[in-house]
Amino acid sequence: MASKMALVLGGGGFIGAHLVSRLKREGFWVRAVDLKYPEYRDTDADDFVQGDLREQSVVKEVIDRRFDEVYQLAADMGGAGYIFTGENDADIMHNSATINLNVVHACHMRGIKRVFYSSSACMYPAYNQEDPDNPKCAEDSAYPAAPDSEYGWEKLFSERLFLAYNRNHGMEARVARYHNIFGPQGTWTGGKEKAPAALCRKVAMAPQGGEIEVWGDGLQTRSFLYIDECLEGTTRLLRSEFQGPVNIGSDEMISIHDLAELVIAISGKDVSIRHVPGPTGVRGRNSDNRLIKEKLGWAPSQKLRTGIESTYGWIEAQVRGNQPQTLAA
Ligand code: NAD
Repeated sequence: MASKMALVLGGGGFIGAHLVSRLKREGFWVRAVDLKYPEYRDTDADDFVQGDLREQSVVKEVIDRRFDEVYQLAADMGGAGYIFTGENDADIMHNSATINLNVVHACHMRGIKRVFYSSSACMYPAYNQEDPDNPKCAEDSAYPAAPDSEYGWEKLFSERLFLAYNRNHGMEARVARYHNIFGPQGTWTGGKEKAPAALCRKVAMAPQGGEIEVWGDGLQTRSFLYIDECLEGTTRLLRSEFQGPVNIGSDEMISIHDLAELVIAISGKDVSIRHVPGPTGVRGRNSDNRLIKEKLGWAPSQKLRTGIESTYGWIEAQVRGNQPQTLAA
């Protein structure tokens, strides 16, 4: 019997490339599509199509059969330096919305049911995230909507788009709101990297007795989810009967200053921290995991330190110009 088939859109990206490997290990035949090949590794996909999902012709060409599972991860995205400066807003909204409109419609035309869509915690209202010690990110706190970035607004629109196809066309799309996913083989330099990778890079590059710069006063809080647990939540959700939206994130909240201290401790280096002005996003954010526990009977549980240790090791190797020794699953 032919194996099950999966399609990973954005399969050249950080989460997508890891997901392709996981699906291969599960026995799927996998097609991945992206503008680019994975940056830091070879793809494990059976078929990797380099193409632009803003083009309807490309989307039609790659969604040419009734895939058992489709994962829509392609988006124009980056860390705070990319999405919070305002300089990329038109691109972010136009590119990601066009991809999502094309993809959901092509899946519908092919009669594909199970489609995963990766929304983001950035769609939660800014007014609920002003207190760094007490952010509110329960799924039903999303409205009245007031994301603090156009990236968040586009996510909000697109999660509604996928759920509208469920309502009107019998699709069985599943929507997750990811909270800061990190791990080896993620962007660590160039402007699109996120806080854990940026801090690992800064510490790895700092000389003994040196100093690193941290954006903002460092009191802003976040939680960070290791890639393996992100994939576990993603596949569990797609194969469940719950459509979401649901948070996929860690509920181990930490301030950015303490995260920097953690990275320094893991490095074993003598490095100090200097806070400088920079884009920081909301003051506080943490994953509220009550709903995922209720609906999936599962929630992430790995300690932040464990994931940061393997990520620091990988980024340090990159900084030294070595190939990664150990790769996350
Ligand atoms: P990523 O940037 O590494 O991956 C996204 C991929 O989409 C990139 O490889 C990019 O080349 C591709 N892409 C962009 N435009 C494209 C186009 N026009 N055609 C084809 N491919 C295109 O990001 P990621 O961290 O792997 O995130 C995956 C998804 O999860 C994204 O939708 C992102 O918004 C969402 N998300 C991620 C996080 C996180 O912390 N990583 C948090 C919340 C939500």
